[in-house]
Amino acid sequence: MIAQEVLAVRYGTRIATKADSYLNFHLYGEPDESFEMDYYFWLVRGAGRTVLVDCGFGEEPGTRRGRATLVDPVAALAGLGVDAAAVDQLVVSHAHYDHIGNLHRFPNAEIVIARREYEFWTGPYAGRFQLAHATEPAELACLADAGARGRLRFVDDSLDLAPGIELVVVGGHTPGQMVAKVGPVVLAADAVHFYEELERDRPFVVVADLPDMYRGFDVVREMCEDAGTALVAGHDADVRRRFPDRVDGLPDGLDEHVVRLSGKEIA
Ligand SMILES: [Zn+2]
Repeated sequence: MIAQEVLAVRYGTRIATKADSYLNFHLYGEPDESFEMDYYFWLVRGAGRTVLVDCGFGEEPGTRRGRATLVDPVAALAGLGVDAAAVDQLVVSHAHYDHIGNLHRFPNAEIVIARREYEFWTGPYAGRFQLAHATEPAELACLADAGARGRLRFVDDSLDLAPGIELVVVGGHTPGQMVAKVGPVVLAADAVHFYEELERDRPFVVVADLPDMYRGFDVVREMCEDAGTALVAGHDADVRRRFPDRVDGLPDGLDEHVVRLSGKEIA
């Protein structure tokens, strides 16, 4: 029996270009190309617990930024039989708009975030343009409000959140970017947006600390070293091809957006 089911929900998409996605892409001396960039959040359920990793962008900020919403994240969860009010823990990999845009719709969840991430985005440099452009002030205010209400659980370097769920703070993309190892999969979120970042050692264009980003690549590689451990890149359209398993019995229109990453039975 498998105690935990891990699903990826592809809730949004856009067409990106390599020049817009990789840091200093011109240095590689390659022609630019466009490619599909997907937006996911992740659901871990079983053993009497429902844990979400990130919660997607809000439709308005997504639309304003040219991202298509494929399915509303809360509606997708409802289709999966998960009531947003019943989510026990919401792990925030980092505080960018496409990861915390629906935070306010999970009123009862304990929010788990790296202490460095929270302190940065509630601190004096959060509003500086090169860092702030990937955030929404109202969403950061919602996060700060959750902090004021004592709803946050902080991660310093790493945390065993529950049996089979390990969180590791790597930084790099943001000051407190986290990755999660959940059973046999590593949810890299934006420590690795695209498989190519790791395969070709190419940092993403949005970066708070470049040495930390390279170090994060090494941490993720190490986490994937165990036999049978698979990497789930945070924005890669190839996730659907690498993980061909689907979930039976979902409502029409949702089934095509849900990818089973591990676990066939719920304990
Ligand atoms: Zn992202």
